[in-house]
Order: sequence, then structure tokens, then C-alpha cells
Amino acid sequence: MPISRPEQPVFRFAPSPNGLLHLGHALSAIVNHDMATAMGGRFLLRIEDIDRTRCRPEFEAAIFEDLAWLGLDWEEPVRRQSDHLDLYAAAIERLQRMGLVYPSAMTRGDIRAAVAAAEATGLAWPRDPDGTPLYPGGERGFSPEEQAALLASGRPYAWRLDMQNAVKRAGEPLAWREIDPVRPDETTSIDADPAAWGDVVLSRSDAPSSYHLSVVVDDALQGITHVVRGRDLYHATSVHRLLQRLLDLPEPVYHHHRLILGPDGRKLSKSNRDTGIAAFRAAGHEPADVRAMVLGQ
Ligand code: GLU
Repeated sequence: MPISRPEQPVFRFAPSPNGLLHLGHALSAIVNHDMATAMGGRFLLRIEDIDRTRCRPEFEAAIFEDLAWLGLDWEEPVRRQSDHLDLYAAAIERLQRMGLVYPSAMTRGDIRAAVAAAEATGLAWPRDPDGTPLYPGGERGFSPEEQAALLASGRPYAWRLDMQNAVKRAGEPLAWREIDPVRPDETTSIDADPAAWGDVVLSRSDAPSSYHLSVVVDDALQGITHVVRGRDLYHATSVHRLLQRLLDLPEPVYHHHRLILGPDGRKLSKSNRDTGIAAFRAAGHEPADVRAMVLGQ
């Protein structure tokens, strides 16, 4: 595996193979690749396929095909998250030993019902930055016996981060450094607010690691110095900084680029075939057209 020169920037594009890449992914991949080239850095591709219910080999093959068609090149071997589940499990165990995670068997439906019941009494339930109601927290206070009973019950469960204690344990207030690709040496400090996410899920019985956990573990293992991704993940960076601090992982700098919106003004989705890179290719467009389209918009 290629090794970085000291101080050499390392970038990554980290798509999930749960659909076809669209113009928003093209922008992300191109910005990462162009910044790496401009800064004499490395460009890695990582396949984020921990959610096995939604990821498919044909989407992974399409990622390689679309990126190669765009004229991008990346280092081999490509890291695939499903090959490294033991590493995410080790990170969860470490947080368990620190007493910062607890098992939770409440389903999304249970949470919705609890929140609806509370809201029916006129209470405004807090929501996370993505608009999802925060987990109500009942299982956080379980005694060791109650936790053991939950684990032995055979019900599916998740490990949730005890956010309040995690923030306390992290100590010093957290921030991240955001850069502008035109002036990558200048950074703006952004205050992180992981508590806005409540007790996030870090793994589930059907998905052995959450996005948050695997992304910080992998960014550290791959020596990523520059995390460049869409604005839709801006607030998630607060959780990533918290996990990095708790797990003693290095801190990359971040750039969250603008999103490409569809004609309806909403973020593009993988189910919208019209904005897929493959659709533009099939319609006879050249890679340069796609590059101009995403960078020029
Ligand atoms: N896998 C994530 C996605 O496809 C991106 C992860 C990241 O860039 O941090 O949305």
C-alpha cells in the first residue's frame, strides 16, 4: 500500500454503493481529486458498504465505472468497510470499557410513538440537525441487571452513545477546522455541538457499525488529512470530532462543499435516474460536460 510522505495531504471520496452516483457525487469526487492534485496529495476511494441491506455489488461496479469515465484515478487497493467490521467492533468495545455506550432495544417505531405521545401533551420534542426526533433516553438509566436482561432477551438492540457523559469525558470544548479550497492553508474554527444529535446509535444487530463510527475509524486508519464532502454532512462533523477525541484519533481538516440541488430545489437522491452520471454518459455527454456542469453551477 502506498505510504504518504510526511505532511503529504491525503483525500478520500467515500461513496456508499446503495444506488447510482449522481451529479452531487461527481462534484464531491472531482473537488477531492482536484484538491489532491493541486496540493501534491493522494486521492483514495473508500466504499462505505456497512449497511448490507441496501448495498449491492452492481452499484459498487458502477462507482468504479463512473469515476473512471470522469477521468479520475485513485490508489489501489480500494478500502471496503465490510472487510473491516472487527475494527469497528473494537472501537465499540473501547467505548464500552469507558462506560460511554449502552444497549437500546427501542425501535424507530417505539421512538416515534413515545415522541408522538409526548407531543400530544403539547410538548415540542427536540430534533437533531437532520430533523429526526431525539431518542427519548429511557434505557440510558438501566441498571447493570436491566442491561444484562435486555442483552439476554434476544431482542435486536443497538449500542447508543451516552452523549451527555461522552461530551463531559471529551473535556475541552470541541471544534473543527473548516478550509476554503482556494486558500487551503487558512482555516476557520467551527464550534462542534455533538449534543444536538442526542444519544446516537453506533452499531446495530443488523449493521455492525454506524456511519459515524466507521467513518472516523477509517479516516484515521487511512491517514486522511482532508475530509472533503457535501454540506449535508456538515453537522455530522460534530459527532465525528467527539468520537475522534474519545478514541484518541487524529483530527483532519474539513471542507463541506455546496450541494447540487434538483429542479425541485431539493438535494439530489440516488433514486432520481435523470441526474445519474451514467444517464449523462448514456445521453452522449462527455466527461468535460459533467465537470463543467457541476463546477460551474
Ligand atoms: N458514505 C457517505 C455518503 O455516501 C459519505 C461519507 C463521508 O464523506 O464522510 O454519503
